Amino acid sequence: MTAHETDYHVHTFRCGHAGGASRDYVLAALDRGLSEIAFTDHIPIYFLEGDDPDPDCAMTRAELPEYVDEVLGLREEFRGRIDVLLGLEADYAEGHEDGLREILALHEWDVVLGSVHWVRGAWIDGPGAARRHESEGSVTLWTEYYRLLGKAAGSGLFDVMTHVDLPKKFGNLMPPSCRDAEASALAAIVASGAAVEVSSAGLRKPVGEEYPAPRVLRDLVSQGVPIVLSSDAHAPLEVAWGRDRVHAAARRAGAAEHLSFRRRERRRHTL
Ligand SMILES: [Zn+2]
Ligand SMILES: [Zn+2]
Repeated sequence: MTAHETDYHVHTFRCGHAGGASRDYVLAALDRGLSEIAFTDHIPIYFLEGDDPDPDCAMTRAELPEYVDEVLGLREEFRGRIDVLLGLEADYAEGHEDGLREILALHEWDVVLGSVHWVRGAWIDGPGAARRHESEGSVTLWTEYYRLLGKAAGSGLFDVMTHVDLPKKFGNLMPPSCRDAEASALAAIVASGAAVEVSSAGLRKPVGEEYPAPRVLRDLVSQGVPIVLSSDAHAPLEVAWGRDRVHAAARRAGAAEHLSFRRRERRRHTL
């Protein structure tokens, strides 16, 4: 095992809510001393009707090959200086697993992140999400979120489960009565063998806490779940953002290693 600095969750302008040139993300990663950067842009929205159901959330299907070509081009350009990896942040949408499988089969991904953003017919992390906690109820949203997260992990389609307590984004913390739903989802992650990300993104959001919360991360790590380190950057400035805090959170949770991936095969590194 070798010490190794990575960022395993980075977006591009194609998703409609990130900015900057992709090349600048790589330059930022180099500047911050990373050995690897994994581009993991949002998968085209395969579970809603139409070619471009939500331009502010994801690239179109037509843009997917361009995304892949750009990342592979950057890999060549920077070879020997930093490893540029081809990944995807793939939404889990219940009942649409075949559609997801089809897209995952199109290219040779280094890593596939599994995310639950679509909960009860809308985004759980969109601008209106805080209001949803009032109108639909936090218990309902958190319970359904964790049910879907458990199913996502159990699908076996993902290498890494991302931001596993996402509904807290705007400060709507999990009601204590959702503990059983949470426990089932975490048990499904443990059973699946997938890793979880420790992400600085929550530190930049109203909740002001990394994903996942310290208690949740400790629980997962104590059960042998491996971790990857991420920023969920949506701009070059955010690459490796909060890296020291993410490392510290991982260590406090008891983690001694983190993972990297090549063609979906994992490698272990000391933290
Ligand atoms: Zn995004
Ligand atoms: Zn996400």
